[in-house]
Amino acid sequence: MIPVLYMVIPCYNEEAVLPETVRQLSEKYDILIQAQKISPLSKIVFVNDGSQDHTWQLIQQYHHDYPEIFSGICLAHNSGHQNAILAGMLTVKNLCDAVITMDADLQDDIDTIDKMVDEFAKGFQVVYGVRSARKTDTPFKRLTAEGFYKLMQMMGVELVYNHADFRLMSQRVLQELANYPEINLFLRGIVPTIGFSSTIVYYERHERFAGKSKYPLKKMLHFAGDGITSFSVKPLKMIVNIGFLMVVFSIIMFIWAFVDKLKGNTVAGWSSTVCSIWLVGGMQLLCLGIIGEYIGKIYAEVKRRPRYIVSEFLNESEENKENSA
Ligand code: UDP
Ligand code: MG
Repeated sequence: MIPVLYMVIPCYNEEAVLPETVRQLSEKYDILIQAQKISPLSKIVFVNDGSQDHTWQLIQQYHHDYPEIFSGICLAHNSGHQNAILAGMLTVKNLCDAVITMDADLQDDIDTIDKMVDEFAKGFQVVYGVRSARKTDTPFKRLTAEGFYKLMQMMGVELVYNHADFRLMSQRVLQELANYPEINLFLRGIVPTIGFSSTIVYYERHERFAGKSKYPLKKMLHFAGDGITSFSVKPLKMIVNIGFLMVVFSIIMFIWAFVDKLKGNTVAGWSSTVCSIWLVGGMQLLCLGIIGEYIGKIYAEVKRRPRYIVSEFLNESEENKENSA
């Protein structure tokens, strides 16, 4: 069976780059459809994420001129990259066999789409696009981006190294993704936790074709913070550890103050003041940490993530036979 492939492209003020993206993508689709790698029902869906320029007018025009290939979704206001991708994926999830998400700025290599489709044909449900090099990024962007992955790893968030949001997901995986109702969305972290068979394809990241990056440092820091606090309760656990260390330290202070007092080196009142500062501080942190542990549990509960995902159910019954007949 030839799969129906939908591409989901988030666009925020991308009027400068959109015509070229459309040209390159439609060429790619023509080739893939000719080669019978994807079905002629496949589409390219642009998600307009509350752009203030003419992005939506352009998308409307493309849909009007070539309705068989271009579709558009317009969000009511700017909801951010992650939400724009999610909106696109969840809107089309019942119309296709697989979705590829890709940025509008042509930084992700278009020829990688072929590789992703090939891997999907082999049976992989998730195909991650991973950057093999960051030659085109500025040293600052590279440093901050790589620091970001390292930090996430330290915090215990499972991420595919150097993978952004250029990936293929099968319809099956999208259906499961729809069961994650959390508001603080960090797709790169969620997709690996869904599971299913996955693989990686490498590509070289190009420079932005036109327009400006919508991810300045401030947004990137915010994104990293979101990633950590959406996936890890490690910062809360750190409070307990620090509190514990302080209590241990206060015991050492006790001994030191006591010895000093015996030696007669101290002013009256010093030992008790110093010791109590450390002990009380340590105890407070420890108690905060314990409260933090409970908050961590509440946090996991309110996210209401699925507790498990069944990938296959082997069960021979009369009903099944009827269904497959
Ligand atoms: N984007 C979006 N909403 C936003 C910010 C960005 O949909 O609020 C889109 C943007 O149009 C682009 C993609 O997300 O297609 C990635 O943004 P950008 O290229 O600016 O990020 P960078 O590659 O510099 O990290
Ligand atoms: Mg970009």
